[in-house]
Amino acid sequence: MSVINRIPAVESKGPATPGTQRIPTVEASDTGTTDIIGRIHSVETCGTVDGPGIRFIVFMQGCLMRCKYCHNRDTWDTQGGREVTVPELMKDLTSYRHFMNASGGGVTASGGEAMLQQEFIAELFTACKAQGIHTCLDTNGFVRHYDELLDRVLDNTDLVLLDIKQINDEKHIPLTHVSNKYTLEFARYLASRGQTMWIRYVVVPTWSDDDESAEGLGQFIAELGDCVEKVELLPYHELGKHKWDVLGDTYDLVGIKPPSKETMDRVQGILGKYHPNVKY
Ligand code: SF4
Repeated sequence: MSVINRIPAVESKGPATPGTQRIPTVEASDTGTTDIIGRIHSVETCGTVDGPGIRFIVFMQGCLMRCKYCHNRDTWDTQGGREVTVPELMKDLTSYRHFMNASGGGVTASGGEAMLQQEFIAELFTACKAQGIHTCLDTNGFVRHYDELLDRVLDNTDLVLLDIKQINDEKHIPLTHVSNKYTLEFARYLASRGQTMWIRYVVVPTWSDDDESAEGLGQFIAELGDCVEKVELLPYHELGKHKWDVLGDTYDLVGIKPPSKETMDRVQGILGKYHPNVKY
């Protein structure tokens, strides 16, 4: 029997509504196999910015956040992308294994939002760990269910890259269309498990580059303790805007330029009061 990791249907435009959506496992067809089917946007074979070393990046399809600066706007539609099985993906990624091993790299599940397809990620990461491949989960932390499946994903995850978009929910909601409460709760859960993580923060002029936001984020990160290995600051850029244009969507951040070096240094300085390893 084949099972498909079904993603809940959401509008491909406009705000997502946090609710009780869950990705159920359903029978796709009776083919005599037990393959989990994932829906992916694309892969990158030699990624260098999503985790340590050279990495095979799997961009999962579907996201429920609606970040104004999203540079992967074409990953939002949960019904888009293409279907793939874990054995198919493993066959592809293991051919890059010598690059990964030589560089201290591995596999990163990114997106879109990888945690919308937890069964597939659990299966993929379990297969990677069985072959000694380092696994990295790049997530926005919009996780609303805590159960054995989630723990199975995390048990097979070596490193979590957790995006915190804004610590102040009054700013987070207009920036992403959802509350940050799920992400912050997930961060605390990761800390309670002693899960190694990097916190990632996109510095967007007028949206997340102010001192108060940086101070609040720093305090929150300090509470998470030693499991936060690194804080990565990512300067906002407009490189994904053309995807919004192609989809006929309005890009709200027109006119907002990437942050200056002075701005990045200032935010780094503030966060540096709370964590010894803040980089950009
Ligand atoms: S979480 Fe990532 S993929 Fe989703 S909208 Fe935000 S930037 Fe885009």
